[in-house]
Amino acid sequence: MPQEPQQFQSIFDMIPTPIWVEDFSEVKNHLISIGLFDLDENEVRFFLQENLEIVNSCIANFKVVSLNQACVELHKAKSKEDLLKNMHKIFSLDSLNTFIEQLVCICTKKYYFEGKTTVKTFTNEIVSILIKSKVMIGYEDSLSKVIVTTEDITNQVIQLESLQRNDFHSSNERFIYASQAISDAIWDWNVETGEVFWSSGFYSLFGHKPGIRKEKEDVWENNIHPNDYPFIKSSLDAAKSNPNQLKWSATYRFRKNDGNYAYVSEHSLILRDKNGKAVRMIGALQDITSQKESEKSIIQKTKYLQVIASLVESLLSFESWESVLVRNLGKIGEASDVDRVYLLANQTIKNTNKLCSKKQYIWSKLDEETSKTTDSESSFSLEDFPNIYRQALKKEAYSIKLSSVENPHLKSFMVENRIQSLLLIPIHSKNTLFGFLGFDECQYERDWTEEDISFLQTIANNFGNAIEKEDFELSLQKLNLELKESNHELEISNGELEQFAFVASHDLQEPLRMITSFLSLLEKKYSDQLDEKAKSYINYAVDGAFRMRQIILDLLEFSRVGGKSNIEITRFESVHAILEACDLLAKKIIETNAKINMGTFPIIQTNKSAFIQLVQNILSNSLKYSKKGVYPVISITSKDVGDSWEFSIEDNGIGIPKEYHGKIFNVFQRLHDKNTYSGTGIGLAICKRIVDHIGGQIGLDSRENIGSRFYFTIPKRVKGL
Ligand code: ADP
Repeated sequence: MPQEPQQFQSIFDMIPTPIWVEDFSEVKNHLISIGLFDLDENEVRFFLQENLEIVNSCIANFKVVSLNQACVELHKAKSKEDLLKNMHKIFSLDSLNTFIEQLVCICTKKYYFEGKTTVKTFTNEIVSILIKSKVMIGYEDSLSKVIVTTEDITNQVIQLESLQRNDFHSSNERFIYASQAISDAIWDWNVETGEVFWSSGFYSLFGHKPGIRKEKEDVWENNIHPNDYPFIKSSLDAAKSNPNQLKWSATYRFRKNDGNYAYVSEHSLILRDKNGKAVRMIGALQDITSQKESEKSIIQKTKYLQVIASLVESLLSFESWESVLVRNLGKIGEASDVDRVYLLANQTIKNTNKLCSKKQYIWSKLDEETSKTTDSESSFSLEDFPNIYRQALKKEAYSIKLSSVENPHLKSFMVENRIQSLLLIPIHSKNTLFGFLGFDECQYERDWTEEDISFLQTIANNFGNAIEKEDFELSLQKLNLELKESNHELEISNGELEQFAFVASHDLQEPLRMITSFLSLLEKKYSDQLDEKAKSYINYAVDGAFRMRQIILDLLEFSRVGGKSNIEITRFESVHAILEACDLLAKKIIETNAKINMGTFPIIQTNKSAFIQLVQNILSNSLKYSKKGVYPVISITSKDVGDSWEFSIEDNGIGIPKEYHGKIFNVFQRLHDKNTYSGTGIGLAICKRIVDHIGGQIGLDSRENIGSRFYFTIPKRVKGL
């Protein structure tokens, strides 16, 4: 370096900015010799960073040609010579990087360089400096004169750093305050250091301690439900490694401090460095357990309702309750998520007279099918389980967990059958305890919800009703069968009776006729030989025979009512039939001087001759049972009584005492002796039989000495006799 003029040197020294002049010519040659001039910027930088010995040899080879007083002061050297001699002392690791950048500039033929760095003073203080170096014009090739100015920027750097620190603090503070203000749980995860900040929401929601902790790798694995973790981990890893993804959301189960899991919905931000690497994640967790629970409960309810609907449908479709139970026991078990479901039916044991409940059908989750239990399988006496029995009688469910069982019978029963929780729903049919639907939970001590119980009660009630209906139908069928059988027997005996009455009355006519005619012959032929007494005996005998004949005729008539010959039904004017009946009794009407009032009459549909006989029998009684010295006044009327027509025949005769009203329709029921009023006591019985066959009613209103009103109904809807 040529000698600087003395004047220039003194001006140079007066400048307050530290300046020195460097000679890089040897450094340049060295760099050329190792071929760094042919490389691009990044390659040079990479090479130098990897080969620090080359950088160090460059430091040794570059020369500071001159420097000013301000440089001496900046570096706290004793003198210019001191500084020039010990220049390598000022280099720190930081200034090494700045020197590398300077070398990069040389290799890439850039003639100006600016950079910040720190240097060590001779009194070992760290000073931040801003370096500006420029190749002097005319020295671009040799690089033997490079002017370097430095500026002490230590204070500015300190201020900036403190400013940044404050900003960081206040922004963190704001974050902490914000995280306290909202109820969500917020975590702030420094991915690089593994530090996790847990907000106060973690305590209120999940019971975890808030604050900053350095968490281990498995913090998420330990807190996320094992079933959710694999998916959440792979989703989170994918999000972290995608430099473009800044947000991540997921729903999973998060472990609470008490070991239970809460459903959470998480939304988080991924903060990345300038290379896109995830360095920090801030997540907000919302407890959505109740929302999830209600979702679950809706799904559960839907399941339950589906089972009830299909069950009720099957029960209504004439299928037997037993086959519906066999088909649906598994569905009930699956819907209620239990390990076993079974039907217990009650029965009284003959020898002991004890009421026992016996398993009849069982479904288990393991076998996945319903089977009928064999006799050897357990049945238990309800006496041994008074609590169960008491609840059942009150139509209430009984549930118990193994840990709270006191009854030794129940405890050993549950242990034997590996039951953790037991639920028994009583089934009532016809208000008696038919049995139970039983549910076993073998994995854990289950708390049956009200929903579970009410669903299972609905099912039990439906089965109870179906059992009752089926029992009722069976007893109805039995009753019908019995009725049919007795009807058949009755038909046979009626037929036989009719046959007998017909044959008897018909065959009796003949000997009776013989008796009468021989008695008449006796009277005629031996009239002169018989005295008055004998004649009167013969008369009694003839009279008796006549009466007997009449009885036989009436009986014959009675037996014929409803017979096959009387089934002809016609539609006719009832007034015509009534007039015909009057005609048949014309002689009697005239003899008794009776007055007959007639109403209006409808067209009816029935067996006409039976109807005539009905009117004739009642009318003849009204003529016969008149009061002495009082002419009979008889009214025949009809009225519409809805489904039927009612006919009535009212007289002003002797009337009938009340106590006989029920009896006079029976055969041979007479209230007078034959001398007062003749008759056989069959007329009204015939009437009753006719009306019964028609499907109508017969009855009377009567008061002694005032008169009687007999009435009967003829249904409008046709029924044969
Ligand atoms: P009978 O052949 O005796 O008339 P019925 O069966 O026709 O038999 O009548 C039964 C009994 O009812 C009669 O004996 C009579 O005592 C009583 N009776 C029937 N109709 C009348 C009436 N209109 N007034 C009073 N008593 C009557």
